[in-house]
Amino acid sequence: MNEIAPQSFFYEMGPIRPPSEGQDHSLLLRTTRNCPWNRCQFCSTYQGHKFSFRKVPEIKGDLEVVKAIYDKLLDAAQNSGLGGRVTQDALRRVWAINPELYGENAGNNTLKWQNLTNVANWINSGARTVFLQDADALVMRTPDLVAVLNYLKEVFPTVERVTAYARSKSCARKSMEELAQIRAAGLVRLHVGLESGCDEVLAWMKKGVTAREHVEGGKKAVAAGFSLSEYVMPGLGGKALSRKHALDSAQVLNEINPDFIRLRSLALRRGSPLLDRWEKGEFDELPEDQVVEEIGWFVENLQCNAYLASDQMSNLLWEVEGRLPQDKEKMLSLIRDYLTKPLGERLTFRRHRRRRSFLAVYGILGPELEELVQAAEEAIRQDRADAAARTDAAIAALKKGFV
Ligand code: SF4
Repeated sequence: MNEIAPQSFFYEMGPIRPPSEGQDHSLLLRTTRNCPWNRCQFCSTYQGHKFSFRKVPEIKGDLEVVKAIYDKLLDAAQNSGLGGRVTQDALRRVWAINPELYGENAGNNTLKWQNLTNVANWINSGARTVFLQDADALVMRTPDLVAVLNYLKEVFPTVERVTAYARSKSCARKSMEELAQIRAAGLVRLHVGLESGCDEVLAWMKKGVTAREHVEGGKKAVAAGFSLSEYVMPGLGGKALSRKHALDSAQVLNEINPDFIRLRSLALRRGSPLLDRWEKGEFDELPEDQVVEEIGWFVENLQCNAYLASDQMSNLLWEVEGRLPQDKEKMLSLIRDYLTKPLGERLTFRRHRRRRSFLAVYGILGPELEELVQAAEEAIRQDRADAAARTDAAIAALKKGFV
C-alpha cells in the first residue's frame, strides 16, 4: 500500500445510509458523490450538491486510509488491556498519540473523528458489513465497481456483506451479465427507492422512472441473485391518488417479489421542493390517519413473500412489521385497532410518537416546537374542537426535522 500523507489521512463519507446498515455498524465507503438524478420532489438529501463519479484509484486510496485507521485502532485496543475491544479510550488514545494526523494543524478534524468512530464501531461489530455510498452505486461503470469490490475483499477479507443504494433505472440499464459480475464480486444487497408503483405519482414527484422500469430493474436484481430491499412511501399520492398509489405499488411489488419492503411514510422535509409546492397549495397532503388507512390497503393487496418493515421514524405505526404472507392478518389487525380508537386517543398517540421520534434525533424540542406540542396537548386534554388542528400543526412542524 502507498504511504499516506497526514493531510490525506481521511476517507470521504456521504450523508446517509439505510437504518439497517447503521444497526450493523457498516463501514461507509463512498464510491460516487451525491445523487445522479436529484430531482425527486420529496427529497432534500442532496439538494444543492452536484453529482460526481469518483475515480477507482481515489476509492482505493480511501480503503487504504481505512486499513491504516483499522490497524492503529486494533493496536491501541490490544494495548488497552480490554480484550481487544475498541473502546472510547482506545479511540482517544489513537487521537492523542498521532498529533501529525490529528493535531490542530492536520485539518479535517471533524471528518477524521467521524472516520475513527465509523471504523471503531465497524471493528467492534466484526468488520463484516460495508455500505457503498451515495445514492446510486449501479450508475458506476461495471468494471470500475467490480474493481472496487475486488480491492475491498483484498484489503479486508473479513467482509461478508456489501450493500448499496441503487435506482431501478440504473439496475434496468445493466445487462444480466454485468449484474452477475457485480454480484459475484461481492455486492449482495441493493436498497432501491421504489416510492410508488403508480405512474401518475411517479411523474408528479419527478421520480424519473416508470412503474414498468421499476418492475424491470427489480426483477433483474432478483434474477441476478441480489437481496433486494424496496422502499415505499405511503402518503406520496396525497389525497387525490392515495388508493391508486397503494394498489399500484402493491401490484408492482407483487411482480418483483423483493426480499424486503420498507415503509417510509411521506414527511414534508425542510429543503425539499415538495414542501414549497405544499406551501403554495399545489399538493394536498394526506392526513396521518388516512396514511395509516392507505398502508392497510397496500398490505391487504400484497401477494408476495417479502419481509415488510416499518423501520424509520416517518412511520406512525412502527409495529406494522412482519413476514408475508403469514403475518399479513396481524399487520392488518394492528392497523384496524389504531383506526378504530376514539379520536382523542389517536391524537394523544400521534403527538406522543412524533415528539419521541424528534427527541431521539435532536434530544430537545426548542421553544417554538415545545409551544406547539404543549398547545396540542392542552387542546386534547380539554377535548377542544381545535385539538386535531393543533395536533396536526405540531406534528407538521416536528416532521420538517425528520431525517
Ligand atoms: S433518486 Fe433518491 S437520492 Fe436521488 S433525488 Fe430521488 S430520492 Fe433523493
